[in-house]
Amino acid sequence: NRRIVLASRPQGEPVANNFRLETVNKPVPAEGEVLLRAVYLSLDPYMRGRMNDAKSYADPVAIDDVMVGATVSQVEASNHPDYKVGEWVLAFGGWQDYLVSNGEELMKLGDNPSHPSYALGIMGMPGFTAYMGLLDIGAPKAGETIVVAAATGPVGATVGQIGKLKGCRVVGIAGGEEKCRFAKEVLGFDECIDHKAADFAQQLATHCGNGIDVYFENVGGKVFDAVLPLLNIGARVPLCGLISQYNATSLPDGPDRLSLLMGTLLVKRIKMQGFIIFDDYGDRYPEFAKDMGQWLGEGKIQYREQIVDGLENMTTAFIGLLKGENFGKVVIKINDP
Ligand code: NDP
Repeated sequence: NRRIVLASRPQGEPVANNFRLETVNKPVPAEGEVLLRAVYLSLDPYMRGRMNDAKSYADPVAIDDVMVGATVSQVEASNHPDYKVGEWVLAFGGWQDYLVSNGEELMKLGDNPSHPSYALGIMGMPGFTAYMGLLDIGAPKAGETIVVAAATGPVGATVGQIGKLKGCRVVGIAGGEEKCRFAKEVLGFDECIDHKAADFAQQLATHCGNGIDVYFENVGGKVFDAVLPLLNIGARVPLCGLISQYNATSLPDGPDRLSLLMGTLLVKRIKMQGFIIFDDYGDRYPEFAKDMGQWLGEGKIQYREQIVDGLENMTTAFIGLLKGENFGKVVIKINDP
């Protein structure tokens, strides 16, 4: 059983030495348990938070413990009446080959799913996050302007495409020309602006001539600074993530903009609401799965995956994800089905 453990806590950006690849004995399932072999591991921005020794909505990973994460796995051996050898499940198996489970936290994916890895992306946590955050908190109405950053990632790409299905004008923000072109040509965004451009804030203002009604917040930092003055009266801001700050070790340099933020929220009666997808919306997964399954089947939603081969490449891919080196949902394939 190969596995990647947290060797030390990062100061700022994670580095290779914060992780350790090791090999231990394959676990043996007891009565009532299954042995799962992971085929796909998910990489997600929240994993950076679990590397810190800080109180959050979930406990940190302990030093020398396996890094956490969702996996799409197959049953290799079963002593559990509900699971048979070969079937696929979604598990929270972490960065390793094998996991023993009593079946409680598993979601069945069937014997022969057509796209097993989609359970980590468009049909799973990121897709669900986009759907609930946009529709429940963002509450977009046809004709309104939605802005979303990390526009080609699994959350942002889905937010924008659902926004288009709801009849909105969608302006994406992404890093680099290639991602911006993809957002417009493949995902169908009306515009996409490169946040690395020197005149980024100016371009955003130009392309949001009627202001912003829904800003789906994925990144924070200078992107939010550019968005804030463009928010309309009654705007909604689903607060989903702040990836530009995940490696930060201190507050940003001044000036302090807190009073500007609060003053804007007040006079424009803006609703800004954070959410943690499974904690807040876990019981609504079936509603999402039904709509998304239908949209995918009808070709109304495009989905880009970046499949990286090999557990040994996982840490490099993770460090890259936090810097925008990924293009689409990053999935690590660690074993053949
Ligand atoms: P992505 O695959 O989109 O990866 C992150 C992307 O963020 C990068 O590719 C990069 O895109 C962008 N990015 C990184 N640094 C910066 C920066 N400094 N400024 C602007 N953009 C930056 O990730 P996901 O779609 O999986 O997640 C998107 C967000 O949603 C994250 O913040 C994540 O934490 C959050 N999330 C929250 C959940 C919740 O329950 N609240 C659940 C799931 C995700 P680019 O190159 O285009 O800039």
